[in-house]
Amino acid sequence: MKCEHCTRKECSKKTKTDDQENASVDVPSPAQENGEKGEFHKLADAKIFLSDCLACDSCVSAEEGIQVSQQNAKDFFQVLNLNKKCDTSKHRVLAVSVCPQSLPYFAAKFSLSVTDASRRLCGFLKSLGVHYVFDTTIAADFSILESQKEFVRRFRQHNEEEPALPMLTSACPGWVRYAERVLGHPVTPHLCTAKSPQQIMGSLVKDYFARRQNLSPDKIFHVIVAPCYDKKLEALQEDVLTASRGSRGTDCVLTSGEIAQMMEQSDVSVREAALDTLFGNVKEEELRRHDGASSDGYLAHIFRHAAKELFNEDVGEVTYRALRNKDFQEVTLEKSGEVLLRFAAAYGFRNIQNVVLKLKKGKFPYHFVEVLACAGGCLNGRGQAQTADGRTDKALLQKMKGIYADIPVQLPEASTHVQELYQEWLDGTDSPRVQEALHTAYQGPGRPADSRDIKW
Ligand code: SF4
Repeated sequence: MKCEHCTRKECSKKTKTDDQENASVDVPSPAQENGEKGEFHKLADAKIFLSDCLACDSCVSAEEGIQVSQQNAKDFFQVLNLNKKCDTSKHRVLAVSVCPQSLPYFAAKFSLSVTDASRRLCGFLKSLGVHYVFDTTIAADFSILESQKEFVRRFRQHNEEEPALPMLTSACPGWVRYAERVLGHPVTPHLCTAKSPQQIMGSLVKDYFARRQNLSPDKIFHVIVAPCYDKKLEALQEDVLTASRGSRGTDCVLTSGEIAQMMEQSDVSVREAALDTLFGNVKEEELRRHDGASSDGYLAHIFRHAAKELFNEDVGEVTYRALRNKDFQEVTLEKSGEVLLRFAAAYGFRNIQNVVLKLKKGKFPYHFVEVLACAGGCLNGRGQAQTADGRTDKALLQKMKGIYADIPVQLPEASTHVQELYQEWLDGTDSPRVQEALHTAYQGPGRPADSRDIKW
């Protein structure tokens, strides 16, 4: 049986299990059948996960395959080893940025508090020779703030002739790549143009931080530690022209699982260390997260902001209503029996398929949808929380959820660093620099979906 979401007839099939959304594909791709295992799939230990499939458009190009395969521990150690050689012209400053959804994995895996896990991870990376270890939460702050502004603008511009709504989130590379490569128009114009946290972190490190340190961006090797393989592909997609002064924002993405494996196999003696900040000597800031069960909570932030800006309504707790399943939820703002805002969260492929189907039929009741490729959100990314046979490690995931929930929540508006960066780095909140550093464009409006072998 052909994988139902794939655009290539020859592509592999999917095992139906209770854990269907997260099931791995157990039949090799055509290339694999011919004995040429795709590099991307080799990375996932010869298993193709649904989120990978969403990302890979069956399959990645040969060039992308090579570049993705280079984003591994070997590539990382090559840079570390060059830094130990006498030829200083080849030395690079190594900066590692850790996604907030990765830290609970290290905490759960090593039975530590999230603060101790971050100190241990940071100490480990520094003992290997990494110079700076950052947290990407600040990049998510920018992404959420820009998404909030864009939603309000779209809501005000929306009309029947030129529909600006619904707005669909764009922080998940698995979903965005699928929308761009497979769905095309009419889906791509609905993608929020705010860059993802990973892309913004690339700009912060290779542009803001590089300037502060008086370094050329190509002298920095920037690694992201992320919960999924999809982010490796995202790192490749950055248009070099929009990248920081000709250098890609992210040079390499390693999954949390890949780093944990390095930690387990390493015999270096580790001294715990605090995370660095982009601002020089300020150290040991309290870890914080955004609202939302396991991702950066775009829905909750945009919902509250829109309710206030558009209808002068203060929303405290955001109340989710599960519809078809726990990964398809709805949130509404109602007044005198009228629905003012209708938002949804759609996680996992089946729910994404349902959203797109409704969108294509023109019967779409939502103003906004938070779309994530992984059922359950980013904590369930395929680069962490999985057993040796590629299934979700439910016990570990449960632990991670509890750890993540206990991290204090801070609104992106409350970050003084973010406000300072808007002024100091971006020349204000509405400047051309904001557009350049914090927004992106999508392929298209896309290759029309009907030109592809796709059946909904
Ligand atoms: S939902 Fe999160 S973990 Fe899963 S593919 Fe998207 S960004 Fe990666």
